[in-house]
Amino acid sequence: MRDLLIIGSGPGGYVAAVRAAQFGLQTAVVEKAAKLGGACLHVGCIPTKALLHTAEIYGQILHAADHGVSCDNVRLDWGRVQARKDRIVAKHAKGIEYLFQKHKVERIGGHARLKGGGRVEVDGVGEIEARNILLATGSEARLLPGLAIDPERILTNVEILGLPAVPKSLAIIGAGAVGVEFASIYRAFGSEVTILEMLPRLVPLEDEEISAELARAFQKEGIAVHTGARVEGIEKRPDGVALSFRDAAGAAQSLHAEKVLVAVGRRPNTEDLGLEKTAIRTDRGWIPVDQWMATAEPGVFAIGDIVAGSPQLAHVASMQGLVAVARIAGRAVQPVNYRRIPACTYCEPQIGSVGLTEAQARTHGYAIKVGKFGFAASGKASILGSNRGFVKVVAEEKYGEILGVHLIGPSATELVAEAVTAMEAEATIETMMYTIHAHPTLAEAMQEAFNAAAGLAIHA
Ligand code: NAD
Repeated sequence: MRDLLIIGSGPGGYVAAVRAAQFGLQTAVVEKAAKLGGACLHVGCIPTKALLHTAEIYGQILHAADHGVSCDNVRLDWGRVQARKDRIVAKHAKGIEYLFQKHKVERIGGHARLKGGGRVEVDGVGEIEARNILLATGSEARLLPGLAIDPERILTNVEILGLPAVPKSLAIIGAGAVGVEFASIYRAFGSEVTILEMLPRLVPLEDEEISAELARAFQKEGIAVHTGARVEGIEKRPDGVALSFRDAAGAAQSLHAEKVLVAVGRRPNTEDLGLEKTAIRTDRGWIPVDQWMATAEPGVFAIGDIVAGSPQLAHVASMQGLVAVARIAGRAVQPVNYRRIPACTYCEPQIGSVGLTEAQARTHGYAIKVGKFGFAASGKASILGSNRGFVKVVAEEKYGEILGVHLIGPSATELVAEAVTAMEAEATIETMMYTIHAHPTLAEAMQEAFNAAAGLAIHA
């Protein structure tokens, strides 16, 4: 009998599998797709960021004259853009195969369903028994009621990755991470982009000042944004899609676009998983777990996008997998601390954040001080020609405990790692003010934001 059977090979499942093998557990992974890696690798994080990087390079080349570099006849070879993205995905799928071989993780192909009591039925394979089962089946894009995908015109994160050409116009419903990332990508490639967001601001989970800065940047880039917008109809037309919506003032508006991207959140893949044969009762599809990722069914754990109340992020799934596996293997481990999860959004400018927003800190009753430092005064940002955005630190007033750090601007998705580490190490703003940051780097802006929280920024 296997020690651990994992269902799903995304960043939750495959990371858990490797760690379980490192701990000496006899481990198998069931994956119904032909390739290992899940949505993150095949239709999410990796291909999206590959396209974004190309979009960034393209944008830089178009503006290279600012640096004294003249480029004539700059063209986008869309076939090669797509091929590069596909090569990156294929390389990393092979990488996971290699990891499984190296760590002797058994790979089983097929759709798995729980049968209760440590038993799982895999289509085309039969019944498998394991001492522990880890559910890591991920999620898929949610659609609006009554709306079906049409690969020509009505797209999710999946279809939009494989478009045969850059669309002339693109409407995006939803301004969460998926919506704003594709807005930046396709705007950079030349599409006319319009965003329709139901809530009053872009990236509504971020600090309000981040949303406001992104709105300014998008306006400058020529991305049309309608917040507080209610989509009322989507009609297919021979040349695209006609959308009707109510704007924030309640006025009826219409919009025509060649393609529409629906980016209104994701739903958990927990249907047809045999949960009814177990003690697990979902909350609208999501699986409740305890701090060790254990479900209501003894010996069955769940991680990642299927977990109730958990952020749907690859790195959260991975960490939850590490916690569950350590627990199964009887190793010491701490539960996931949900206050220290970095959120990285790869729009332009990038967003990186961790911890409480200013509004959340106030709602939690903290007396706070806030420090903000703009990249406008950063020498390195000027060198990069990327002065937009800022670092914002939210700290507890008396002891300087770091409650949250919010960045928008160059390399924000990388810089946020310092803030996460500082919070994990329980560093105060004073520790960070006297931590030497190399010059000239973007990271100096972090130090200056900590200085600013103490009212002592040098370059502000
Ligand atoms: P999301 O939940 O982050 O955002 C969806 C947005 O759509 C929200 O702002 C919501 O208010 C809006 N919305 C919902 N219904 C709407 C409607 N009818 N009309 C207009 N707007 C509507 O979802 P997402 O952007 O689809 O992303 C899905 C998940 O994947 C999220 O958890 C996200 O964090 C994660 N993700 C993360 C990254 C990253 O870390 N870089 C990238 C992509 C996706």
